Amino acid sequence: METKIVTTDNIIEAGEIIRRGGLVAFPTETVYGLGADAMNEEAAAKIYAAKGRPSDNPLIVHISDIEQVDLVARDVSEDAWKIMNYFWPGPLTVILNKREEVPHGTTGGLDTVAVRMPSHPAARALIRESDRVIAAPSANTSGRPSPTTAQHVWEDMKGKIPMIIDGGAVGIGIESTIVDMTGEEPMILRPGYITKAMLEEVLGTVQVDPAVSGRTMKKDVVAKAPGMKYRHYAPKGKLTLVEGPEEQVIDQINQMAWEKTRQGYRVGVIATDETLSRYYVGVRRSIGSRKNSDTIATHLYSILRFCDEFELDYIYSESFFEDGLGNAIMNRMLKAAGYHLISL
Ligand code: AMP
Ligand code: MG
Repeated sequence: METKIVTTDNIIEAGEIIRRGGLVAFPTETVYGLGADAMNEEAAAKIYAAKGRPSDNPLIVHISDIEQVDLVARDVSEDAWKIMNYFWPGPLTVILNKREEVPHGTTGGLDTVAVRMPSHPAARALIRESDRVIAAPSANTSGRPSPTTAQHVWEDMKGKIPMIIDGGAVGIGIESTIVDMTGEEPMILRPGYITKAMLEEVLGTVQVDPAVSGRTMKKDVVAKAPGMKYRHYAPKGKLTLVEGPEEQVIDQINQMAWEKTRQGYRVGVIATDETLSRYYVGVRRSIGSRKNSDTIATHLYSILRFCDEFELDYIYSESFFEDGLGNAIMNRMLKAAGYHLISL
């Protein structure tokens, strides 16, 4: 199949593809999505095929207007409406009870449905133009870092889908926060740009799924968001995170990087703007500034992809603060590292 990369001026043609049951990759404010008609089981199946995604890993349904919640969900709680009204359009996905009409092929067999209203104008325009609600996971091959540019999507999807809408680099760079609103208490299933504190301002107490909190892999805990149980975001080389006092972290990384370089391996170092100049071996890159965690989120996935482009065997990275957005960043980094963390 020939894959076209088009500008955001081609929404009409893109909408037509979605209506006919085809796939279109499109920009959102979080990462690029791979979209299909959410109510069409065969269309949704194409997403799984293109990504190589396990069929029990459900898709997020994207809507352009809050009234569309009623098309896909039932028995929506007051609190759920509250956060949807407050945070939408934006990087928050809400788990609700699904309506009969939503095929299990979209929800990975679950009776709940994940819903999000993105703020990106091209995403909203595509949903409106297609006159459908659009199921869209991240537009990467399963297991690879999520795409934050149309180029990333092209690397993974060329020849597999008819169209990629290029809306430039995304703003946020990590996936939406997922909060389950079907239980007794709101529960965060995946940390993201909307933090626990932000949700608690609107809802009072919010729980965090034990599978996504903390810094160790919990062997006996099954993640409630099926997608979180898979190894994700991983570069092909071995990524190790190092945390502790800055001086010691830098020394330790320099030492390990030197050791592996001497053994003949290709080595990478992920530093920050503040520390980059203090590393001296391997391919060195800054992921962003510690003074502004938004910059780190924005660059995270392109740095992980870059590790593969350079065919790095070993990658050493500094760790990040775990408050606010830092929590979502460390969650993704730990997964990418297979929870390999050295604490000094
Ligand atoms: P992605 O869009 O690729 O970031 O993947 C969507 C994420 O949402 C995956 O981690 C899914 O497991 C999660 N998800 C989607 N639907 C549900 C649901 N009904 N219940 C729990 N998690 C869900
Ligand atoms: Mg994904």
